[in-house]
Amino acid sequence: MKKLPRLRFAHLPTTIEPLPRLSEALGGPQIFVKRDDQTGLAFGGNKTRKLEFLLAEAKANGARMLITAGAGQSNHCRQTAAAAARFGFKCKLVLTTTTPETKLPKDQKIKQPEDRTPAASTNEVSGNLLLDRLFDADIIWTAVNQRDEVLKLTFEEAWRSGQRPFLIPYGGSNATGASAFTLAMQEMLDQCTGSPLVNEPPDWIIIPSSSGGTQAGLVLGASLFGFEGRLLGISIDEQASALRDMVAELADVTADHLGEDVRFSADEILVNDDYLGGGYGVVGEPEIEAIGLFARLEGLLVDPVYTGRAAAGMIDLIRKGNFEERSRILFWHTGGTPALFADKYRGVGSST
Ligand SMILES: *Cc1c(COP(=O)(O)O)cnc(C)c1O
Repeated sequence: MKKLPRLRFAHLPTTIEPLPRLSEALGGPQIFVKRDDQTGLAFGGNKTRKLEFLLAEAKANGARMLITAGAGQSNHCRQTAAAAARFGFKCKLVLTTTTPETKLPKDQKIKQPEDRTPAASTNEVSGNLLLDRLFDADIIWTAVNQRDEVLKLTFEEAWRSGQRPFLIPYGGSNATGASAFTLAMQEMLDQCTGSPLVNEPPDWIIIPSSSGGTQAGLVLGASLFGFEGRLLGISIDEQASALRDMVAELADVTADHLGEDVRFSADEILVNDDYLGGGYGVVGEPEIEAIGLFARLEGLLVDPVYTGRAAAGMIDLIRKGNFEERSRILFWHTGGTPALFADKYRGVGSST
């Protein structure tokens, strides 16, 4: 496997812990958790692993500014802003509002961040967004359907003005970012000896899956390092067929990037899209129940958007008897907990 340039700042390996009280309450398989919510950078999360490789690439390219995009409460943007601060890059974040805006004319200049910040959004400066501001990221607001265009304009403008920008894709999910999770699979397998999993890798790994980089990296790692269990992505916001295609394709280009000659087809990728609920970032009863169960039984926080939804899916699948009696599940905690403090998700604590 090719050795990729990497900046080391994540706290690795992340620990694996058993969740005995949750396992007992659900009465099925033994559940463990891999604590990627503790990767160490500004409340942690799965993007920190990806950023170790993405920032190394940015540096090698002589970049001085990082530009990326995401939702208003994006964990990826928060971790990118923190990494930028830590390594002395400027940072611009293109964040999507849910307020529709008219289409930007082709030659429109990107206005100053404040101009595009919805005036009423001062109450939105909470959770990840508050942290973005502390890390001094420039925030550019856009409607979802204009995101790609605004991102492109932002990049071009920064380039023209000599700021040497480096574009990090949505979710950090390209071959460079996904490579981090290929190595994370190796980390997990190496770790089984001496971890609560005692020598044997889990039968199942369950992760929330959205832009597909985490799953693609793990899928490739499973193949390269011989993980024999199953890897299930609970889709956060995408139809299963589309997400399977994305993951297989990204696993292929990640293999190329690492100089490995393996190929994947969409039908090898396990994705469940039964838990999309009201859509991205819309918290429903299943997420609220999952957040409450993890908190009350294990003192462990899962987030309203990703891990809460994946946990709700896992809980439902356990209740439906989807897993063999003595099987062992590793719930890969991808982080996201700062969103618990977002005004937008105030409701998660109220009805458990
Ligand atoms: C981004 C994110 C995910 C999804 O990871 P992808 O690589 O985009 O599929 C899952 N959980 C959290 C907390 C995230 O921030």
